[in-house]
Amino acid sequence: MADPLGAVLWRLAGSFDAQSFHKAETLLYNEMDVEHFTVPRQTLLRVCRMAVQEWLAGSCRVCNGRGMIVDADNKRRRCPCCRGSGKWQYPADERMTMLGVCGDKFDKLIPVLDEAAMILELAEGVVTGQVSFQLERKQVNPLKI
Ligand SMILES: [Zn+2]
Repeated sequence: MADPLGAVLWRLAGSFDAQSFHKAETLLYNEMDVEHFTVPRQTLLRVCRMAVQEWLAGSCRVCNGRGMIVDADNKRRRCPCCRGSGKWQYPADERMTMLGVCGDKFDKLIPVLDEAAMILELAEGVVTGQVSFQLERKQVNPLKI
């Protein structure tokens, strides 16, 4: 696959192995604009680790990532927690605990966390697109497989 980070994320999502996790956080760190953020290297590494953890366990805890819930009247409706996105919004206090920072120090890391999450989403999107394309090609030409 053309995108190394996306390929590792794909493998990590399927295997949950420590080696893929470590490789994903390292590749993410390498793709971060290190000079743009005036953040110590160790802090940036912790941000990358947390971003991969959040990506891996990013399903909404209320609807399990489906974006829909069944209410007491047995009607399906959009999940009020994630508003139908299926993604879990990690609360600030949980993120501060994971990073070991609080207050202004945490506020300064929010743009760094956002960039890390964006890089992961882009990498995931590239690989998902590649896999979809390859699967579709196989369906178009089933006799050539
Ligand atoms: Zn939800």
